[in-house]
Parts: sequence; C-alpha cells; structure tokens
Amino acid sequence: MNKLSTQKSFQKVFAKEFMEMIDDAFFLFDYSLRFIFVNKKATQLIGKNKKELLGKRIDDVFPEVKQAKIYTEFLKSRKFNKNPIEYYSPSMKKWLSVSVFPIHYGIVVYAKDITGKKEAEMLLFESEEKYRLVVESTVDLVSIFNTEGKFIYASPSYKDVLGHDPKSLIGLSMFSTPDPNDSEKVKSIFKRILKGEKIRKFMTKGIDNKGNIHFLEASGSAIFDNHGKPYMVVSVAHDVTEREENEQRKEDFIAMTSHELKTPLTSAKIFIQFLKKRFTSLKDKESFTLLQKVDRVIDQLEILIKELLDATLTNQKKLSLKKENFIFRDLVLQTISELQLSIHNKIVVNLQTKKYVHADKEKISQVLINFITNAAKYSPKKTNIIVKSREKGKFIVVSIQDFGIGVAKKDKTHIFDRFYKGSKSKTYPGLGLGLYITKEIIKENGGEIWVESTEGKGSTFYFSLPMYTGK
Ligand code: ADP
Repeated sequence: MNKLSTQKSFQKVFAKEFMEMIDDAFFLFDYSLRFIFVNKKATQLIGKNKKELLGKRIDDVFPEVKQAKIYTEFLKSRKFNKNPIEYYSPSMKKWLSVSVFPIHYGIVVYAKDITGKKEAEMLLFESEEKYRLVVESTVDLVSIFNTEGKFIYASPSYKDVLGHDPKSLIGLSMFSTPDPNDSEKVKSIFKRILKGEKIRKFMTKGIDNKGNIHFLEASGSAIFDNHGKPYMVVSVAHDVTEREENEQRKEDFIAMTSHELKTPLTSAKIFIQFLKKRFTSLKDKESFTLLQKVDRVIDQLEILIKELLDATLTNQKKLSLKKENFIFRDLVLQTISELQLSIHNKIVVNLQTKKYVHADKEKISQVLINFITNAAKYSPKKTNIIVKSREKGKFIVVSIQDFGIGVAKKDKTHIFDRFYKGSKSKTYPGLGLGLYITKEIIKENGGEIWVESTEGKGSTFYFSLPMYTGK
C-alpha cells in the first residue's frame, strides 16, 4: 500500500471510530435516502440494528417520515435548512433535534434525543400557564411593582373590583393611596419588603373609578436576581371593604349602646346612695348590706361599660389625649393610695425617679389601675404587688409585679389583643379588653409595654414612657 492509500484508509477507520464514539446519532444517506452508515448511537435511538437499516430507504423503514415537513421539503427542493429542527417521532415517542447537511456523495444527519428537555419545557409551560390562569381568574388584586413601587403588572380583577382598566395602572405609583398616612405606611412596608421581608396581611386603602375608598388586606414579597438584588415586588390584595364596614357598624353599635347604658346606671347609683342613707337612719343593717352589694355590682358594670367604650374609641383611633407635664412619681403614689382602699393585696412601692413625663395624666392613671387591679385579680392568694419605677435612657420604666397565677407561654403574645382572655383566666371576670386599651394608651403616649411571667409563679408587667426633657 502506498503512503497515500495508507493515510486514506487510516482516515476512514478513524472517522468510523470517531462516529461510533460521539454521543449523537449519526446517519449517512445516499441521494435516494438509503442508509449507507449508522453509528451505534443511531441504532440505539431508533431501536433497529445495522442489518435492518443499511441499504434500505428511510421511508421504507420509517413510513412516518413521509408526513414530516423536513422530508417533503427536501423531496421538493432538494435543499436543507442548515439549522437544527425539532422533530417528534410518533413511532419512537421521542423528540429529536435533527441537523441535516449534504456532502458530496450523500446526506449527513445528526440526531439528538431531546425528549427530556422537551418534557421539562412542556411542564414549565404548563405550570406557567396554570399560574397565569390562577392569576387571571382570581378575584384578588394581583400586582407586580418595580423597585420604585410603580405598577408593571395589574391583574384583570382590577377591573371587577375597582373598575380600573389594568393597563391604565402601568407606570402609576402604589404609594398614591387616598390617605396620606396610609401612603407613608405603605412606603415603609415596601422598604421592608425590598430588604427581603415577606409581609403578610397589612391593611391599606384603594380608590375605585367612582372615587369610593376600598379597604384592602394585602401581602407582598420581593423577587431577587442572582446577585441578591430585588428587581420586583409581587403583591396580592383582597378587598375587605364589606368586612370593615360591618366591623365599623358593630363598633358604632357598641359605642352607642355603652354610652346609653351609662346614664341609667348613674341614676341607679344616685338612688342607691339615697336608699343607703334611709336604711342607715332606719338602722336596717341587713337591707344596707344588700344594697352595698348591689352598689358593687353596679361599679363592676360601670367598669365593663367603660372598657367597651374605650376599646371602640381606641380601635377607631379616636382616643383623644390631653397631654401635660407632670411628675410621674406623684401620679403613681396618688393612684396607689386610692387603689389600696379597695384592694386586699398589699401594694409595695419603690419609685426611683422624680422626673417629669409629658403624657395624658388621666389615661396613665387608668393604665396603672388596669395593671394593679389585674395583678390583684390574678393573685387569688392576695400576695403582695410590687410597683417600681426607674430611669432607662430617655424613658421611665415602670414594673408591676405580682406572685399570682402567671401567664401561660402560649398566651404571652396574645394577651394584649382585643377580647383575648388567657387560657387560665376564663373563670375570672372581665372581657379581655383592659390590656388592649392599656397597650394603645401607652403606644399613643410614646412608650412600650411588655410582660415577663412564669406560669404559677407570677407576672411582671412593664411599661415605659418618654421623660419630659423640654424646657
Ligand atoms: P381581662 O378582662 O380578661 O382581665 P385583660 O385585657 O386585662 O383582660 O387581660 C388579658 C388576659 O391577660 C387576661 O385574661 C389574663 O389571662 C392575662 N393577664 C392579665 N394580667 C395578668 C396578671 N397580672 N397575671 C396573670 N394573667 C394576667
């Protein structure tokens, strides 16, 4: 063999070996589309051995190709599109990426099994489609905002709920709510969302195309790029206007009723005082004692009614404060000296500060009364109650400690909620409003409120108030 023919046969062997090694199916056809060569991968892909293929026409082995566009177009024009095309083979039940190109004595075909990739794409498409359907059929307002808070998407429900064409909202700011306070609140929530917090259930307001205000209960979270930078915020809001209006009606009803109840009670108290005097002069001790009991029951009723009224006012943010400067210590001492007369527990006082506070004196006294009467109510063994105060930074911190039943761990986060009664205190009187009102009063006066407690050993309730530092 001369050198050239040795080289040629080497190239041929090498090319064949190489074709066997590659991971794609490789076919060689003559111009009548007869198989001349197939590699191992090709036989595996189509599930036929070399004998069944070589020398046969492709349309004899696979009649289905007669339907394929790539085949019919080739027969028509004898030309190929050089880009790979995706072809689904019904007999193989496989997706193939097929590249075809002519060489001087035939046609080369590379085929790759892309069924896995294709199925993943389909799944993705289907799930995207599902999400799209969910978003488009939901009655909730689904929105996507850019990082400046401007709409980049608004769901079709905007039309049904607020009467706005979703497209008309694109580019508008989410902060343009009907209420300036609300806008500030939304801005600060948006900042937290951009930092990665997922915010559930915050109340905001929206305005419909007729100018009516809607109450919306919304939640939102940010979507981050690969570098951890937020690039959009998704929010879902539910129209709760009807619920809020019902709540408002209920509140108005409670406020009105409790107000109306106060008048007859005041008259009843006057009559009781009158009768007490009469029984004293008649020396009718038994009637007098009975009347005293009635008097106490009326006192309790008065407290309950006052709590109900306060709670509705507090909830509607109608708690009007009359702030003034006063020495905090004096208020505590005065309140305690009055309270001690009606409480069996001994109140021990340790007040370390004589500083001024700027707050609503009457309301702060009410706070102290709430804490101390609770401490007494939940200490059935009539153990001592310790009231302390100290300075901490710019605040005065007050603690009211008791050695009573304590607060169960699971109740600790809820006892400041409206109408919440602890699991151990269902048999004790009260509506579960005292701590709620107390918390709101303290908040409005610039302070904080918290509790430390061990069940069965007692509780310490704390509150802080900013010291008056003004001139
Ligand atoms: P209530 O009318 O039930 O006393 P509050 O709002 O004053 O309502 O208190 C809420 C709940 O907190 C109470 O039901 C009770 O479980 C718990 N609680 C409040 N103060 C104390 C205390 N000093 N010791 C133990 N539990 C307390």
